[in-house]
Amino acid sequence: MADFDADYSELKGKFIDCHPECGMCCLCQPEILPNEMEFFETNHPYALVKAKHPDNHVALALKKGRGSCIFLNNRRCSIYKNRPAFCRQYPFYIHVGEKVSVELDLSCRGVWDGKDIDAETEAKKLVENARPDINPILKESKETYREFYNNCTLAGVIGEPTEIRSSVAVSLSKFTDLTQLSRILDLSESYEPFSLSEVKQDSLTDYAYLDEAARTAAMDSMATEDPLSMPVYCDKEWNWNIFMADGDNLEWAVLDDDGEIHHKAFASASNISLRPLEDGGRDVLAQYVSLLNRRESFLGSVFNNMDAFGYEDHMSNAYYGTVAVSVLDLLWRASMLDHFMGTGTGAEGIKEAIIFYDMDRLDAPSIGSFV
Ligand code: SF4
Ligand code: SF4
Repeated sequence: MADFDADYSELKGKFIDCHPECGMCCLCQPEILPNEMEFFETNHPYALVKAKHPDNHVALALKKGRGSCIFLNNRRCSIYKNRPAFCRQYPFYIHVGEKVSVELDLSCRGVWDGKDIDAETEAKKLVENARPDINPILKESKETYREFYNNCTLAGVIGEPTEIRSSVAVSLSKFTDLTQLSRILDLSESYEPFSLSEVKQDSLTDYAYLDEAARTAAMDSMATEDPLSMPVYCDKEWNWNIFMADGDNLEWAVLDDDGEIHHKAFASASNISLRPLEDGGRDVLAQYVSLLNRRESFLGSVFNNMDAFGYEDHMSNAYYGTVAVSVLDLLWRASMLDHFMGTGTGAEGIKEAIIFYDMDRLDAPSIGSFV
């Protein structure tokens, strides 16, 4: 008997195929669950390692301790039939917040042009298998949300999430127009809540400010001391690209299956400006903003930020501001990909930027968790 109804709306009408040359998701270290231990201890004991993040757990080893999973050969899984549940679940993310919903990682190229596997049917199987694990997490998560709303009320920053999301849904064009995006960003930093209907096309947009905000958002989200923990952008030729950000310096490199890093080019981030959207790019961007606006993990990440910043921002301002910064991060990445690879900022260029960006978006700290 169902204890909860999961939301599969993000998956409706979508199909998935796994591309044999891709292997991008095999760059992570899949966790081995207790019920999988016996198989690996018996058949592949050398492949098990202890991992510490986010918590202590047992995982599969990486080749030479870096790069891709030890079982990836010529971009194919050599234990495919016995691969861990962690691998079977990708690219689905089961988010447990106030409710349970399933999201799809758009960084997997197989979700863009899949034909074989019906995403909704597959997700339902995954949720049924995980149901005993989800139930206690859901109970705890609902309590966390109650506490969060209570804190918002006490701080005088409470809003109505359904109304906030509806206002974004009818204002998608404002988030894909640079002049209006600039105004949204500006207003979201004020203490007083504002309405998106106040945002009009403004010929006085400070593009330097917008450019800097976009560059900062993207460079911050790409900065890490460990190049092997960088977000990977798998391009159309199945190269695993990484972009290492350090101050104003940006290095483009390609990672190989053994974890070796091959330098491609350097750039100064300050020399990369936001490129205007070309035909078709704006529509693809609007569809992505619409998707983010429906995702529970996105709402949870806004709430997480509000909690982290001590409930200083009104919920609607925090929400609109996070949507605006996400769009700017994505647009700057599109400009960066165009700078290095000539992908453009039309429909294809924005699609490539989403493929690069979405895994980071899903990784953002959130109230609620993925199981
Ligand atoms: S990222 Fe997607 S297409 Fe690539 S190997 Fe993983 S599941 Fe297959
Ligand atoms: S077990 Fe197979 S599917 Fe899982 S990460 Fe390793 S190679 Fe990839």
